[in-house]
Amino acid sequence: MTNISVETPNSKASSGAPSAAERFGVVDMPSLEYTEEVARETAPLYEKVKHHIPEIEWPVHAPYVHAINKLKKERNAVILAHNYQTPEIFHCVADFAGDSLQLAQQAEKVDAEIIIQCGVHFMAETSKLLSPEKTVLIPDMKAGCSLAESITGEDVRLLREANPGVPIVTYVNTSADVKAESDICCTSSNAVRIVESFESDTVFLIPDEYLAQNVAKETSKKILTWKGHCEVHERFTAEELLAYKEADPAIQIIAHPECPTTVTEVADFTGSTSGMIDYAMSQKAGSKVLLVTECSMASNIESEAPGVEFIKPCNLCPHMKRITLPKILESLVYMRDEVTVDPVMAEKAKLAVERMVNLKTN
Ligand code: SF4
Repeated sequence: MTNISVETPNSKASSGAPSAAERFGVVDMPSLEYTEEVARETAPLYEKVKHHIPEIEWPVHAPYVHAINKLKKERNAVILAHNYQTPEIFHCVADFAGDSLQLAQQAEKVDAEIIIQCGVHFMAETSKLLSPEKTVLIPDMKAGCSLAESITGEDVRLLREANPGVPIVTYVNTSADVKAESDICCTSSNAVRIVESFESDTVFLIPDEYLAQNVAKETSKKILTWKGHCEVHERFTAEELLAYKEADPAIQIIAHPECPTTVTEVADFTGSTSGMIDYAMSQKAGSKVLLVTECSMASNIESEAPGVEFIKPCNLCPHMKRITLPKILESLVYMRDEVTVDPVMAEKAKLAVERMVNLKTN
C-alpha cells in the first residue's frame, strides 16, 4: 500500500504535485431529493434492477444514480465496474463492466480524463498502469483484497533469490509492487498457457494457491506457489455443492479456479469470471446454474439469460462491497481518492502485464 497515496480535497499529493481536487476542482454536492424528474429519468434503469431492489427502496438509490450519471458527464469521467459490484452500480451507473483486466484495458481505450474504478485497489492500480496519463479514482481506498495482500514485492524478490532461474508468473489480482517483480502476469483464463510458454520444467504461479493447484492439474510443469487465497472462493466446499446436486441432479455447477480443487473437481465447468458468464449464457431456457463465485455476479447477469434459473450460494466480498453509490458520488464531487503508482515501479509492472497481452494466449 505504500505506493498509493490518498488525497483529500485540499491536500497535495506526496510528490508535491497538485491533487486531483486541485486539478479538476470540487463541486457542490447535488441535491439528493427524489423528485418527479429523478423518478422519470431513472425509471428505465430501475427496470434492470427491479428483481434485486424492492420498489420501496428505489427512492433511496435513484437520487444517487441520477446525480452520478449527470456529474460523470460534466466531469468527462467514466465509471468502470467489476462483475462483483452490486446491481445498482453494475446496471445503473457503470459505463463498462468486466473482470479486472478487461476494465484496465477499457480504461486505456476510453476517451475520458477521469476513471472511477468501482472495484478493489489492485484493479485501480492496474488501470493506472495501463493509463498513466489518466486520473484514476477509487471511491474507497480501503477496498482491499485478501489475495493481493497475501504477498509483497519483497516476498517475490526473496522467492527469486532462493529459486534462481525459475520463472515467476503472477496472477493479475496483485499489487503493482508484486507485478513489477514478476516475469509475466496471467489471468485465470490464460494461466495454463502462460505457464506452458516457459521452457523451464518448474514455474512459480503466485500468489493464489488454489489457482496454482487447478492449473497444475492441466500441465506437466511442476508448479510452485504461495499460500494466498481469495477469502470468497476459499469458503466454498465440495459438500455444500454436492448437496445442491443431490437435491437436483440437473443443476450445472460453474466454479471459479480460485476455489479449492476439491470444489472444482465436483463442478461441471471451471473458468474465469468471463468464462463462467459465457458458460451460463450458453445454457438453454429452463436450465439451472449454480455460480460458485461472489454472488453479485449471478444477480448482475441473470437478466441477460432469460429462462435460466440462477442458484446463488451467497458469498459476498466485503472489499468489493465497500464501494457504494454515496461513495461514488463523493468521488465525483471531491475528486478522491486518487490512485498513484511510483513511475519506475509502474513501468516494470506494466511490462509484466504487456508480456501477457502480447503472448496472445487469451
Ligand atoms: S473476491 Fe476475492 S480476489 Fe476478488 S477482491 Fe474479493 S477477496 Fe479479492
